[in-house]
Amino acid sequence: MNSLREYDQQSLSDLIESMGEKPFRAKQLYEWLHIKRVWEFDQMTNLPAGLRDKLADEFVLDPLKVLRKQEAADHSTAKYLFGLQDGETVESVWMSYKHGDSVCVSSQVGCRMGCSFCASTIDGLVRNLTPAEMLSQVYDIERECYQGEGHINSIIIMGMGEPFDNYDNVMEFIRLLTDEKGRNLSARHVTISTCGLTDGILRLADEGLPITLALSLHAPNDEIRRRIMPIAKAHSMDEIFDACLTFFKKTGRRVTFEYSMIKGVNDSEDNAKELSDRCKKLQKLGMPTHINLIPLNAVKEREHKRSADKDIRTFQKILEKNRINVTIRREMGGEIDAACGQLSRNHKKT
Ligand code: SAH
Repeated sequence: MNSLREYDQQSLSDLIESMGEKPFRAKQLYEWLHIKRVWEFDQMTNLPAGLRDKLADEFVLDPLKVLRKQEAADHSTAKYLFGLQDGETVESVWMSYKHGDSVCVSSQVGCRMGCSFCASTIDGLVRNLTPAEMLSQVYDIERECYQGEGHINSIIIMGMGEPFDNYDNVMEFIRLLTDEKGRNLSARHVTISTCGLTDGILRLADEGLPITLALSLHAPNDEIRRRIMPIAKAHSMDEIFDACLTFFKKTGRRVTFEYSMIKGVNDSEDNAKELSDRCKKLQKLGMPTHINLIPLNAVKEREHKRSADKDIRTFQKILEKNRINVTIRREMGGEIDAACGQLSRNHKKT
């Protein structure tokens, strides 16, 4: 059954009209769905019982079910395994920071991008998530974590899947989440992470939304990139950087480069120097660069290992010496299987 959370204001008005109801019912319903947020039709107390029954016959409110929650011992991270109506599963992660809390949202069941270090892609793409399935990851986690007494400040679309391989649904989800008359999350607090689908980057640049873009770079050159990311065979780094530059010029939003540190693959001093040179070239073209180093979260089905701490620090220092902005991502979730797709895979096997 479709979820009513799929409907924006206009389509909800059309639905209500087609059911022969008064137009103001659409506004009331939208408020129940996205502001007051209830989980049962019977809680929509200002709607006539007849309408509530009709809606309940045709729609569900929440298309997800929390199957499992794993919390880090220090309560800074929690990973959720959600069951979908067709029996598939996806994961989302709640993360708490000093400046606010964030949810890492999945955009697909599985993934067809084939990155050699990632667990989500091992069984390929199963299907795209609907806007309601993405929105419900956020709503369900807010309900679980705050019980009406708080909310998250930002989302990152960095869970399972490639968001630009499900572009229309992801944009619809963002439009619902950022709707001023609904949940009203600021688009500035939305980050989309891509492995480098240039069409998606260019489309996003034209949306006129102040969304942050993260690019999964993971290599200082095309040769290494092609070894670990099949998408690199379709788009060279130069092509992707061109698209990022266009994105930056059109939106004024900085692009963050994600760089997972893989032992013996992309973590040498030479790799750091080459990466610095590429960043400097981009800076000369007017684009600020920021590298986010991610210690690899080793996946047991994959042969890649995490870089040694000392190599990560040396890599960071070389970038810093070259005046490249660099941070090392706080390692979260290792203890709770938070690398993409790990929890879901473990669930399937049990
Ligand atoms: N498909 C999108 C978003 C999902 S993955 C993308 O590629 O950006 C989110 C980030 O985690 C990406 O940067 C991805 O390359 C990285 N990642 C995937 N598996 C990882 C692992 N085992 N350890 C560290 N980072 C990983």
